[in-house]
Amino acid sequence: MAKDTHPTPMLDDLETGPWPSFISGIKRLRDKHPDKRINEMANSLLGQLEHSYETRKGYWKGGTVSVYGYGGGIIPRFSEVGKAFPESKEFHTLRVQPPAGNFYTTAMLRQLGDSWEKYGSGLVTFHGQTGNIMFIGASTENTQHFFDEINEYGWDLGGAGPCVRTAMSCVGAARCEMSCAHEHSIHRHLVNNFTDDVHRPALPYKFKFKVSGCPNDCQNSIERSDFAVIGTWRDDMKVNQDEIKYYIKKKGRQYLLDNVIARCPTQAISLTDKDEFVVDNHNCVRCMHCLNVMPRALHPGDDKGVTILIGGKRTLKIGDLMGTVVVPFMKLETEEDFERIVGMAEEIIDFWAENGLEHERTGEMIERIGLVNFLEGIGIDVDPHMVNYPRQSSYIRMDGWDEEAEKWFERKREQKLAASA
Ligand code: SF4
Repeated sequence: MAKDTHPTPMLDDLETGPWPSFISGIKRLRDKHPDKRINEMANSLLGQLEHSYETRKGYWKGGTVSVYGYGGGIIPRFSEVGKAFPESKEFHTLRVQPPAGNFYTTAMLRQLGDSWEKYGSGLVTFHGQTGNIMFIGASTENTQHFFDEINEYGWDLGGAGPCVRTAMSCVGAARCEMSCAHEHSIHRHLVNNFTDDVHRPALPYKFKFKVSGCPNDCQNSIERSDFAVIGTWRDDMKVNQDEIKYYIKKKGRQYLLDNVIARCPTQAISLTDKDEFVVDNHNCVRCMHCLNVMPRALHPGDDKGVTILIGGKRTLKIGDLMGTVVVPFMKLETEEDFERIVGMAEEIIDFWAENGLEHERTGEMIERIGLVNFLEGIGIDVDPHMVNYPRQSSYIRMDGWDEEAEKWFERKREQKLAASA
C-alpha cells in the first residue's frame, strides 16, 4: 500500500459505471501489490490522472527513448508535472511482439509478468490496437533492463513510428475449422524477413501485415493492414447433406430458407424439394455466411490458398480505405511459395519507400498515382479478378479495356517525349 495516497474523487466516479474500470486495476496495484515501488508508481499515476481531469489538460510529453541497437518499439512518456508526482515522472511504454496467433503458455506469461514486476509498473495491456503486448510504465533506465531480460528468453520489441509494424494473425487452423491457410507460418515468414525494417524506422510511414485464415477475416486485415493475406479456396464448397437434414430437423425448413438461402448475396445456393443443399460454386463469392450458420454441414473446399490485398488503412488524410485485391489467388504451401510472397512484399515496400510521400500510407499512394502505375511498379500483370471495392463490386468491366489501356500507354509515351524534349 502506498504511503500517502492522492485523493481521487473524479477517478472514483469512473468506477461506478457498468463496466470494469481501469481505475480499479491501477488501484489494485496501489493498494494490494506486495512491492512498495509498484504501490508508489500506481499512486503517483493516479494522482497525475486526477490532476489532468481537474485541469482538463494532458501532461505527458514525448521524447526519445530507445534500447541499444533499436530505433523504435518504445513510446516515451515524460511527465510535465513530475515534481508533484515523482514516482511516475518517466512512464514509457514498451511494445513487445506477441507470438503468431497470440498463442501463449502460462509459463511464458508468468515469466513476462515476473520481469515486468521487477522493472516496470505492473500495468500491461493484452493486446493494444497495434497488436503488441503493451508494457506501460517503465523509467528510462529500467526500459533497457527489462528489454535485456525478456530478449534473453526470446521476446522482441515491436514496431513504432514509420516502419514495418508488428504483424497479426488469427487463431488459425489450431482452433478454427474454416482455416484455409498456414496463418502463423505466413505471419512469421513475412515479419522475420523485415526485422530490420521493424526496428529501424526508415519508411514514409507505417506498414502493416495482417493474416486471416479465411474470408471471415477475423483480423480485419482488409481494412486495417497495408498487406492483407486472407485464406480462401477455389474448388467446390464441401457439403455434408446428412448434416443439412439434421439442421432442417432441428430448426425447420423455413428457417433455413429465410436465414441461409435468402441471405446469400449472390443467390448461389438453393434447396431442392428433397432438402438437398445445392451450391452454384461459380457464383459463390466466399462471403462465409452460409458456412458460419451451418459450420457442421458446410466447409471450404480442398484447393486452398490465399488472396492478397494491398492498401487498407484506417482514417487519416483521405479517409478509410479497404485493401485492393492484387493477387486473387495463390497457393501457399511450399518453401518456394513462401519465398514468392516475401519477394512480393519486398517489392511493394521498396516501391512505396521510393514513391510514397512522407506520412503517406500505401493505399494513399495507390490512390494518388493510380492502381495501374502501382501494379506496373511492382511487376504484377493486371487481372480482371483484381477487385477494387470488395463486397460492393465483385467484377470489373472488360469491354473497352484494351482501348483504354492503349490510350494510357499513349499518354505515357507523350509524357516521356515531353520530358526528354
Ligand atoms: Fe453464398 Fe456466401 Fe455461402 Fe458463397 S459463402 S454460397 S456467397 S452465402
